[in-house]
Amino acid sequence: MLRMPRLFPSLLVARSRTRTAASRRTPISCIILAVLFLSSSGAASSAAAQKALHIFFVDVEGGQATLFVTPAGQSLLIDTGWPGNDGRDADRIVAAAKKAGIRKIDYVVITHFHTDHVGGLPQLAARIPIGTVIDHGDNRESTDAPTVQGWQAYQELLAAKKFKRLTVKPGDSLPISSTSVDGLQATAVSADGAVIDHPLPGAGQENASCNNTEAYPADQTENVRSVGTLITFGKLRILDLGDLTRDKETELVCPRNKLGAIDIYIVSHHGWSQSSSPALLNAIAPRVAIMDNGANKGGTPSVWDIIEKSPRLENLWQLHYSDEGGAAHNVAAEFIANPEGPDAGNYLELTAWPNGRFDVWNPRTAKRIHYPAR
Ligand SMILES: [Zn+2]
Repeated sequence: MLRMPRLFPSLLVARSRTRTAASRRTPISCIILAVLFLSSSGAASSAAAQKALHIFFVDVEGGQATLFVTPAGQSLLIDTGWPGNDGRDADRIVAAAKKAGIRKIDYVVITHFHTDHVGGLPQLAARIPIGTVIDHGDNRESTDAPTVQGWQAYQELLAAKKFKRLTVKPGDSLPISSTSVDGLQATAVSADGAVIDHPLPGAGQENASCNNTEAYPADQTENVRSVGTLITFGKLRILDLGDLTRDKETELVCPRNKLGAIDIYIVSHHGWSQSSSPALLNAIAPRVAIMDNGANKGGTPSVWDIIEKSPRLENLWQLHYSDEGGAAHNVAAEFIANPEGPDAGNYLELTAWPNGRFDVWNPRTAKRIHYPAR
């Protein structure tokens, strides 16, 4: 999938052949020109093949684990799924990493300390090297035992120096932005209950749907502290808000839309009704939404309707058939990774190019939908 390693052996061969064959009778300037030609033509064709960003929507049964791998092989994982199950979720993430051709995960964002997001981290860290884990700051929900356990396990991994820790605040660039050589940028738009105070570049339009927005109750859990991330790759804009709740969404898009239009929306909170308000969906107006619901977690019919009715939507994809949704509130089977019945842990993969075009691939059905640049 990542073809970069092939470039260097072929270049090395080209260079060594040029040196040995030409060293006795060819002027040095010709050798340099030949090497430059071989290098640039090889690099150009290889660069064309490499330009895709790959995003793996790993099925962690109603938790989150979304792996981004840039053309140059830099990686960012948003959340790590659940604990237990003999490392089921960590195994699935590692399988996606292998498909992408990476042996290390450079950055992991833990959106918040609920167990379906941070729970898989110890098992993951035991299976694959991790560079830096990015969080919103310390856990603030001390009344929920699984959340406290997830936080404690995180502290133990930090004490064992399994990875570095970085705490971000709204407006910060994630470090992959500086290490990515292929133009991927990631910005925190929410963290620890705060959101960006200025619109992102190109955003800031008035959001008419705010006039009808309810006053949502203030969430008291870790959900509202989720690290939300906006990722840009060339012309493409991708939004992941973790489990950010509607009260905080309102601060992001009302009365002005600080986020702007989004191409790909990773549906917040597994498609549960505490998130994905009409004001958010009307503001970001995604072309494609991908929902990491489980069979019995998330996928709420009212949210499904809000997404389906959003102004620019071309397709909603689901990681699971939603039992609650039934016949009326599930997409067609070809857009679902895991249909009714025994779970197979199927993933979805999105491949994106800097000009704004992208594909979504369902390995279960071998169905690939192409979305041209807009
Ligand atoms: Zn969750």
